[in-house]
Amino acid sequence: MWELAATVVDPEVPVLTIEDLGVLRGVTFATASGSVTVEITPTYSGCPAVDAMRDDIVGVLHGNGYDDVSVKVVLSPAWTTDWLSDEGRTKLEQYGIAAPGPRRSDGTVSLGLGIRCPRCGSMHTRQLSRFGSTSCKALYVCQRCQEPFDYFKEH
Ligand SMILES: [Zn+2]
Repeated sequence: MWELAATVVDPEVPVLTIEDLGVLRGVTFATASGSVTVEITPTYSGCPAVDAMRDDIVGVLHGNGYDDVSVKVVLSPAWTTDWLSDEGRTKLEQYGIAAPGPRRSDGTVSLGLGIRCPRCGSMHTRQLSRFGSTSCKALYVCQRCQEPFDYFKEH
């Protein structure tokens, strides 16, 4: 069931599964009732993607014979970019979205290094807007290749 739910992709970044994102938190199966409960933590409380993910999770489980499926949105603890898998970070960059850096072992976030352009790798980038295509992302522009790109915000 975990593997079925893990095939659901982020509707905003279709190369990333909810497992890559760390959005998929848990799958429980109640043997007595045959009901499945899937817990997800959205990347951002304002993400409109939640409804689409919920529908997709229910859809894929229904399609595999699980009729009683509920999706629980867990908001605490809040999702952080730490939950992004390494594979997820790589896929984000390949998709043209700058991924937040991994948190250092001392718990601090490496800020001030600039955001790397996912297209040419230049660190000469600048923020155009705090909000990109969705509230989960900020809009940046690369000063070398002049290409705008989304940055998956660190939080
Ligand atoms: Zn660039």
